[in-house]
Amino acid sequence: MAVPRLRAVADGDLDPLDIGLRDVVGTSARTLEKARGITTVGQLLDWLPRTYLDPSRPTAFRDLPHGEDVVVVGTVRAATTHQMRNRRGRRLVVQVEDDTGGTIELTFFKPFGHQDRLRPGVRVVCSGQVGVWRETLQLTHPDYATLGEDGEGGAQWLLDGLVPVYTATKGLSPIVHGQCLELVFHHLDQLPDPVPQQVREEVGLPGLLEAYRLVHRPRTQAEQRRGRWRLKFTEAFTVQAQLAQVRRSATAVPARPRVPAEDGGLGAQLRRRLPFALTEGQEGVLTELLDDLGRDVPMHRLLQGEVGSGKTVLALLAMLAVVDSGGQAALLAPTEVLAAQHHRSMTGLLGPIAEAGLLGGLAEGTRVALLTGSQSAAERRASLLAAASGEAGIVVGTHALIQQHVQFAELAMVVVDEQHRFGVEQRDALRSKAPEGTAPHVLVMTATPIPRTVAMTVYGDMEISTLRELPGGRRPISSYVVDGQRPDWVRRTWERVAEEVRGGGQVYVVCPRIGDADDPDLPGTGTAGPGLPTGAAAPDATGDDGADLLTGLVDTGTATPALHGVHQVARCLRGLPATLDLAIEVLHGRMGAEEKDAVMLAFAAGRVDVLVSTTVVEVGVDVPNATTMVLLDADRFGISQLHQLRGRVGRGGKPGLALLLTQGEGVDPAAVERLEQVAATTDGFELARLDLESRREGDVLGASQSGGRSGLRFLRLARDEDLIVQAHEAAWRTVEADPELQRHPALARALTRLDAARAAFLERG
Ligand code: ADP
Ligand code: MG
Repeated sequence: MAVPRLRAVADGDLDPLDIGLRDVVGTSARTLEKARGITTVGQLLDWLPRTYLDPSRPTAFRDLPHGEDVVVVGTVRAATTHQMRNRRGRRLVVQVEDDTGGTIELTFFKPFGHQDRLRPGVRVVCSGQVGVWRETLQLTHPDYATLGEDGEGGAQWLLDGLVPVYTATKGLSPIVHGQCLELVFHHLDQLPDPVPQQVREEVGLPGLLEAYRLVHRPRTQAEQRRGRWRLKFTEAFTVQAQLAQVRRSATAVPARPRVPAEDGGLGAQLRRRLPFALTEGQEGVLTELLDDLGRDVPMHRLLQGEVGSGKTVLALLAMLAVVDSGGQAALLAPTEVLAAQHHRSMTGLLGPIAEAGLLGGLAEGTRVALLTGSQSAAERRASLLAAASGEAGIVVGTHALIQQHVQFAELAMVVVDEQHRFGVEQRDALRSKAPEGTAPHVLVMTATPIPRTVAMTVYGDMEISTLRELPGGRRPISSYVVDGQRPDWVRRTWERVAEEVRGGGQVYVVCPRIGDADDPDLPGTGTAGPGLPTGAAAPDATGDDGADLLTGLVDTGTATPALHGVHQVARCLRGLPATLDLAIEVLHGRMGAEEKDAVMLAFAAGRVDVLVSTTVVEVGVDVPNATTMVLLDADRFGISQLHQLRGRVGRGGKPGLALLLTQGEGVDPAAVERLEQVAATTDGFELARLDLESRREGDVLGASQSGGRSGLRFLRLARDEDLIVQAHEAAWRTVEADPELQRHPALARALTRLDAARAAFLERG
């Protein structure tokens, strides 16, 4: 075949991995593209075998697992064409015998062409799903290759060492796939290696091309493991090198040091006002924050701590140091509810400190402005002015803050609250608002405890502070799983809710979807109330702050009964004997900002007893008097999300209670086990670890990191800690020694690819 050597094709800057498959495998490229969207050499190589079969220890035909995809080797003993009785057409039945004398039948309803190739005596490799018909094992229309025929391309690779088995893909024969890989390997001479040779030698890594061979064409299990380890290392190394570079660029532009005023400044004033003392952990973190702010290298720090561990007050104290030194701080919240809440609680905590210029306000104090997308024109104008004039030392807002026309007099610090996806672009946009030639200090806060490997991989460019304890007097939340199949339990749940309210508490009821105001009433719940299976209407995955809800939901993959909607549940509770008299309101992402705010205010003020909502209450919402949370269809939520949600209760002095109602019918046992785990512990780090084990890396890292050759395809963050640490050290050393990567062009190219994948993700998101 006249296929040009890939090195020639790859002349210039084109990485052989980026070469289009058409140039290598010819017309099969179309098949690969249609079946799996694979278009380049690299994508084909990165599609790794799902498992391996060992033909040196073949499964005897008689032991073949029914219903499973198998690859088998045998010899054709007989091939017969039958006229079909009831239909027109013919059927080819081929008997294949393995070395143990077992027989399997290959059946073809369109015999054309196959008769000629499947002659008695021919060795054949077949792949298909094992079925049984009239007590005979069968493969119907299997993919197959005959062995040892000249010019056929054969399938010799299937006979050396292990047989790779890939995820079965409609429209793509494993044999064609295998032949494509053969062609790729045949034509590849070498691959530029993003991992420098010195590192390869130190760590003892095979070359990149060698690694792909080991994975796709291993002779032993040890070989394929070695190949895989190498591919993972490449991935970890590339990600770490990128983080090292982000870190460099984040700190390349200097920041202005920000220190509190002489006598402790506004921070000291605030601390005198606080009704509590900071915990030891908080003091430690505050010291770290103030140290960072005092340097001319911009702060680049992640603060992680359980919900309610007191991050916000620390951020506020840090921001006051900035205000003291004449700068401004911006606090970025992910939702309007949270922005408004921050604004409220900060002005509350600050009191006269935030009333500069007002009667009774502190003369050297400041103002806190709120800026969100849905404010009235007049409110907006006032806030924009306060930010631009410097009158507001602190500006709280949503992403509206990043918009171009928002100006600051002297932006010195940016605090990003509960935001996992604050991209490089957004960071840059905010940085551009700082005075010329300076960079703002950046503090990111998250309530999701992050296992070490994730922290290193996702936030590896940042320093990390951790708050491990909850401030004094906080009682742990008790959680119980409630079987949604049992009307008596469900009824008891709503009675409990009523008791809680009578005892002076307030209750959240969280539903997985909004539903429509005119949705049908919940069927069949009678006097038990919502929580029982709701029948089989189609689930509504739209709505709310869309992505948030969806990413949190675990796809159980099966047909699901309808999920509870906010509107239905609220209506049902208003008519239920137990909860009839309670003040019940709804909250969800489709409501206008003002409306949402009004409901939150009423709930915070105790005028609402029961708040029926979607997961909008997931992050940061803080109503100390809320003591109980009922989660409907709880098995549909992920571990971290459940933990986040229940963190909304028990924030005052009273103990919290979370009731996790299962969906009832058709509930996934694994999901119930997950619920039991959540109920059994309140240790966020333990739960984060469990969560990591139960999820794919793509979910953990966001779509930017999954899919495509540049993302995390191979690493398993739950398992590969040692490898990640090793790659981290090697990569940071490499970037430090050669920041522009002039001596490492292949690594530089790999990073460009990673950037492109991230940029594409941000555009979509
Ligand atoms: P986070 O932002 O970490 O979820 P917050 O800063 O909102 O936590 O704190 C939760 C609640 O605990 C707030 O009402 C806050 O005023 C209060 N709080 C913070 N630190 C302490 C402390 N050291 N002792 C008592 N209460 C505290
Ligand atoms: Mg908070």
